Amino acid sequence: MSEENQYDLVVVGGGPAGSSAAWAAAKNGIKVALIEKEGSIAETVRTSGVTWIQSIKEFGIPENCYNPIKNFTFCSPNNEITIKDSVPRAAVLDVRKTYRWLAREAENAGVDIFIKTSINGVIKNDNGDIIGVSGVGPKGEITFHSKIIIDASGFSSTICKTMGFVTQWERFGAGAEWEVKVENVDSETWWLMVGKQYSPAGYAWIFPLGNNMVRIGVGVGKPESDVDPTQRLKEIMDAKLGPIKKLGRITPIEFHYGLIPNDGLSRKTVFNNLILVGDSAGQANPLVLEGIRYAIKYGRVAGKVSADAIKSGNTNRDALLPYENNWKKDIESKIKSAGKVQDRWIGLSDEDWDKELDIISELKSEEFIDFIKAEFGLSNMIKLATHHPKLAVRQLFNLVKGKN
Ligand SMILES: Cc1cc2nc3c(=O)[nH]c(=O)nc-3n(C[C@H](O)[C@H](O)[C@H](O)COP(=O)(O)OP(=O)(O)OC[C@H]3O[C@@H](n4cnc5c(N)ncnc54)[C@H](O)[C@@H]3O)c2cc1C
Repeated sequence: MSEENQYDLVVVGGGPAGSSAAWAAAKNGIKVALIEKEGSIAETVRTSGVTWIQSIKEFGIPENCYNPIKNFTFCSPNNEITIKDSVPRAAVLDVRKTYRWLAREAENAGVDIFIKTSINGVIKNDNGDIIGVSGVGPKGEITFHSKIIIDASGFSSTICKTMGFVTQWERFGAGAEWEVKVENVDSETWWLMVGKQYSPAGYAWIFPLGNNMVRIGVGVGKPESDVDPTQRLKEIMDAKLGPIKKLGRITPIEFHYGLIPNDGLSRKTVFNNLILVGDSAGQANPLVLEGIRYAIKYGRVAGKVSADAIKSGNTNRDALLPYENNWKKDIESKIKSAGKVQDRWIGLSDEDWDKELDIISELKSEEFIDFIKAEFGLSNMIKLATHHPKLAVRQLFNLVKGKN
């Protein structure tokens, strides 16, 4: 016998998108279930957790959830540059703490959280529209009926795949990372390492967490390269390549591995009674493959729009469109521009990277942050493309604007 549950809204996936959607929906007065297949929220970490102080403040994430970053060092085979700032604008999240805080906020707003519950089926009405999900929980088969389902299952996009709306992502990033204790580290400076030795289509990183802890990782673009990031990470750590040498003795603590979509914003994200959000919607900045702030931001929008639709008694695609319109207006053109820069970066040789770093070093910290965040506001771009004192920088921003 299957355990039956009835909710207004069911959110599948207890990552940042799911917890944020559930929180916003419950705050708006509807009955919400949040379903997570693992034994606890953020049991497995699949991300490096870099985000921006501005977003952290906007979301209200507590200060003990992150390590602030002031300086940004890049190294290529024969170059090294650092962009320094007087205030921290970036941060490395304690991912487990942050994701659990997001889920706790949802629980405090009245959300019922079901852990150890893996969803593998959908329930449809006579029109073929989704009206529930089914799976396996701690006590066996379990079913959830609801007016709207939010697919926040991440890269796997379980619900929309089961509905037959999408197939596997074709272009994506694969990343492997060790969280380690080290002897020497400047906790306010992150490192990005570029060039073929680090990653043939991507980059490697050292992200400090404070207390002499860092995350060392390698990301590889697929299908551009068939290099296994786990193997490449082992090689560069064994060889103590570049700045890894400066860390001194390394004591491994925890291994992380994950996949992130990089197909652009190719998917529809609303259907009758169904919303896709976060990685399941492909909402990631392709330049550095970061998606946490989008997952939280548009998770909240998805939750609010769902609550409004449920209260109005109409949950069809048209009623959910304000969600899609909201995120598209906000990020569609930025993601497209970031894709152009990413295409340029993927094609760079080691020598090209040495020169690219010289161009990046001309940016002020705020310009660099806008650039790496893909915050390509038109007025900013025009200003930089026409007035930046360095020709190479003007050319880079013209590329973003789509001129060459
Ligand atoms: C190696 C790597 C490094 C990254 N680094 C950064 C970074 O530094 N900064 C940044 O902003 N972004 C980074 N990202 C991207 C970021 O992790 C994602 O964009 C973000 O986690 C998306 O959140 P989400 O809630 O959509 O999905 P997820 O975080 O993937 O959450 C999905 C949740 O759904 C659960 N789930 C899945 N299927 C089911 C099911 N069938 N039933 C029940 N539950 C299910 C999963 O267990 C998981 O908890 C990185 C990604 C990778 C792979």
